[in-house]
Amino acid sequence: MSDTGPQEALTIGFIGLGRMGSPMARLLIKGGHRVLGFDLAQQARAHLTEAGGTAVHSAGAAAAADVVILMLPDSKVVTSVLGDDAVTAALAPGTIVIDMSSSEPVRTRELADELAQRRIHLVDAPVSGGVRGAEAGTLTIMVGGDADIVDRVTGVLELLGRPVRAGGVGAGHAVKALNNLMSATHLWVTSEAMIAGQKFGLDPEVMLSVFNGSSGRSGSTENKWPNFILPGGFDSGFGLRLMLKDMKIATALARAVGVEPTLGDEAVELWARAAEDLDPDADHTEVARWIASTTN
Ligand code: NAD
Repeated sequence: MSDTGPQEALTIGFIGLGRMGSPMARLLIKGGHRVLGFDLAQQARAHLTEAGGTAVHSAGAAAAADVVILMLPDSKVVTSVLGDDAVTAALAPGTIVIDMSSSEPVRTRELADELAQRRIHLVDAPVSGGVRGAEAGTLTIMVGGDADIVDRVTGVLELLGRPVRAGGVGAGHAVKALNNLMSATHLWVTSEAMIAGQKFGLDPEVMLSVFNGSSGRSGSTENKWPNFILPGGFDSGFGLRLMLKDMKIATALARAVGVEPTLGDEAVELWARAAEDLDPDADHTEVARWIASTTN
């Protein structure tokens, strides 16, 4: 494919139209691109059609595109989709595949090498900002890949948010996993502090206001507690199991480079305990309720 200025209309294959993928595909359509979308779920495909996209009935049909975006649960699913015979046949040399899922950086590098043998380029571009950011086009996008290839898809990524070049292929997935290990650990300790403070008689709104003007602030005090936990919705749109997956990617990465993730390991164990008790589809903010349920 040629350089992708923001005004050049491309055919974009989009595989994985879930909580994040669906609003992202919608923004690409709004941006003037032709989106061929596939998801295993019929309803997800129907939403794409309503948004003006073309729903196709196989990953292979979505792979016949200039750029193929993946927004799938994890590396296992990404590997199986890219290994699908119809996908392999449809991916033409020169195609750029952008894995926007939160995948495993080491696996991403392996996949990039495998695809490069067929002159297919892989860029990793996981995101933060949640479902709200996906809807508003304000995601932070952590981009890994060869600079000249990344340049060619920057116009597409800018429709979804703010791309930040993290480094070579796999760098985006590495920094994303590390971010989520921090985020999950913050959420746990913030929840313990909020619950303890309330039991002491403190007003939760006052606590958040103080924390947000002090050194205890984080995404948990600025966003998760006020928007999804205190109002009782537990509806951030990011699954607890997906968070736990990212935390494990980060601790494995730390260990692989000789860093013992002591607090990270502890956080993984705590989150895993909550995951065992909670519904498989539980939102990750449900950990706050779970922590509260374990207190006297
Ligand atoms: P989701 O479960 O809502 O969506 C995943 C979609 O992939 C589903 O619609 C599912 O049907 C589809 N799918 C699964 N296997 C498939 C296959 N083989 N072929 C086609 N479709 C398939 O998950 P999500 O919340 O949209 O998250 C997607 C990715 O983004 C994950 O890696 C997650 O960790 C990451 N992420 C999520 C958020 C969030 O707030 N939800 C934020 C940042 C990053």
